[in-house]
Amino acid sequence: MEIVKWPEGKKSAVMFSFDLDGDVIWRNMSADEPNAEKLIRARSIGQYGPNRCVDMILDLMDKYGVKATFYVPGFVAECNPEVVKRIADAGHEIGNHGYTHERFVEKTVEEQREIIEKTQRIIKEITGKEPVGFRTPSGDWHVRTPYILSEMGFSYSSSMRGDDKPYYTILDGEESDLVEIPSKWELDDYVAQAYSVYPAEPSGLDRISCYRNVQDNDIREFRGYYDLGMCISFLMHPQISGAPGRNLVLEEVLKEVTSHEDVWVATGSEIAEYWKRTYPGKRRKAQQDKAKLPDGEILQDKRTDKDSGRGEG
Ligand SMILES: [Zn+2]
Repeated sequence: MEIVKWPEGKKSAVMFSFDLDGDVIWRNMSADEPNAEKLIRARSIGQYGPNRCVDMILDLMDKYGVKATFYVPGFVAECNPEVVKRIADAGHEIGNHGYTHERFVEKTVEEQREIIEKTQRIIKEITGKEPVGFRTPSGDWHVRTPYILSEMGFSYSSSMRGDDKPYYTILDGEESDLVEIPSKWELDDYVAQAYSVYPAEPSGLDRISCYRNVQDNDIREFRGYYDLGMCISFLMHPQISGAPGRNLVLEEVLKEVTSHEDVWVATGSEIAEYWKRTYPGKRRKAQQDKAKLPDGEILQDKRTDKDSGRGEG
């Protein structure tokens, strides 16, 4: 089994990430519902995230000295600029999470680019900094989405499931410079703990997972990644893990993670930058080799021509 090198000889890496979805996912889920009164209640489930739970999460992160990554849809940022500013001012990273939590697979290339650019502008206006990380919102992303991210200069995405450590996204059959920091459904608090009667979440209902079991799952997953020296990315939501009882579950996970001195807890952009420096990947390696070549010799960058094509995939 390979051994991954982490900074300062650490054994494994951990990323705590929170999708600040606010009420847009409930708006989307309720879009075709006829009963406006019930829509208001469903939306309040989401509004609870920025209204109250973000501060629960921020306090907890502060208590354990952890910097996290918050992926925010542009619309939620527009509605809660002071919340987003508070997160950024506390030293956490803000990433791009679409505008209204769109299903990218259903959008054209041009629409996707507009959505991503719009959210970049909104977040920059609030925090003074353009996000370098992206997490795809509802559903899958479009086959061209990673090409758009690469063209726009994003450092990384945390959207896929393909490994237990970062890897480079393959574009046109070759490793690109876009790092993917994978997470998994089993690390998503929504899967085990989100609940709404109407609209039904989960559909068919009959589930609020036992918190003790959820905590046990999270800690077992962490220990598994730790033993293998991999990078675990917890995928949480303030409106779920910021609620009082579930915040205690998160605290137990934080206690376990931070009790290991040889664990590197980092934000998405820190992990992506470290990865590029330490494991440059074929494309970056070729650029480095090119820089070292004797005078007059230039390596062909095979990627440039092909990647500039912008068709719909
Ligand atoms: Zn989301």
